[in-house]
Amino acid sequence: MLDVNQADAILIQTPQQAILVDTGDIKTKEKLGSYIQQAGITVLDKVVITHAHADHLGGMSEVIKSIPIRQIYDSTFPYTTATYRNYLRTVQQKKIPFSRLHAGMQIDLDNGIYLKVLAPEKEFITGSGSDINNSSIVLKLVYGDFSMLLTGDAEVESEQLMLKQYKAELKSRVLKSPHHGSRTSSSPAFLKAVAPEAVVISLGANNDYHYPHPSVMKRYQAAKMNIFRTDLHGTVTITSDGKTYTIKKEKR
Ligand SMILES: [Zn+2]
Repeated sequence: MLDVNQADAILIQTPQQAILVDTGDIKTKEKLGSYIQQAGITVLDKVVITHAHADHLGGMSEVIKSIPIRQIYDSTFPYTTATYRNYLRTVQQKKIPFSRLHAGMQIDLDNGIYLKVLAPEKEFITGSGSDINNSSIVLKLVYGDFSMLLTGDAEVESEQLMLKQYKAELKSRVLKSPHHGSRTSSSPAFLKAVAPEAVVISLGANNDYHYPHPSVMKRYQAAKMNIFRTDLHGTVTITSDGKTYTIKKEKR
């Protein structure tokens, strides 16, 4: 989980592939570019845009310009910002394969590693606190005994739907804190089903939203999760051999 301030960018490297889940904000696009370069990546096999908010899509303008992308996955939730429209136009111009992800799909990577899509459903949630956040693509990354749940900015309405449809599959060893530790998310029932050993929160220091919310932190602490935060720890690197895993902080 890359330190991109108040935003999300998650880089997954398997033996043969590089996958970027969200691209941070436009303000950190150069930083994102150098992370990708430092990792020795010359092609992104897949880019997943969990939803079209600027703190997830903003860095795409740089990524799409500077590195070949083999496949883009998007929720296709209808959104009208200039950033989203420009991105769609560029994808079309560059003829990058583009497809929608919805719950029930699975993306097979290599070495038996896969991403299972747990949200959004084909029919988007409407009338919620934030329908676009609730359209976030939620992925469970599975590699043998290791698993990590990538939640975008899914809020309680999406969490409830996942509990209904995928309760048994939610259990994961590591959780990416949904919606930067906001109190709109991490509902007690959802946390109980995921039951992670560790949680990683992607957020900026002294952010305007006052994330993470103290009530959410209390829930994480009560469940005895190991808590990692990009605002305090910088980039958080999780390495797994499919049996165990280690979590390394950039800053101590
Ligand atoms: Zn966000």
